[in-house]
Amino acid sequence: MNSPESSGAPAPVCSAKGCRDAAVWVLAWNNPSLHAPERRKTWLACEEHRAHLSHFLDLRGFLKDVVKFDEWVQPEGSERT
Ligand SMILES: [Zn+2]
Repeated sequence: MNSPESSGAPAPVCSAKGCRDAAVWVLAWNNPSLHAPERRKTWLACEEHRAHLSHFLDLRGFLKDVVKFDEWVQPEGSERT
């Protein structure tokens, strides 16, 4: 057994309930009744859950952006949930 213990930052994990897969996508969203318009909340998604999570947000009109995790730049004043 050879488990890597300290390899820098913890790998980002998908936000879907019960999913432990590595995040590949960042879903940026905003709930206009709770957040200032420029504010972005973010969910992380693996390849499998991207459609499910983005659909969930899109249905509510919250979804703003879907970006590859590698390309995501956290905007000022936003936070990760
Ligand atoms: Zn997932």
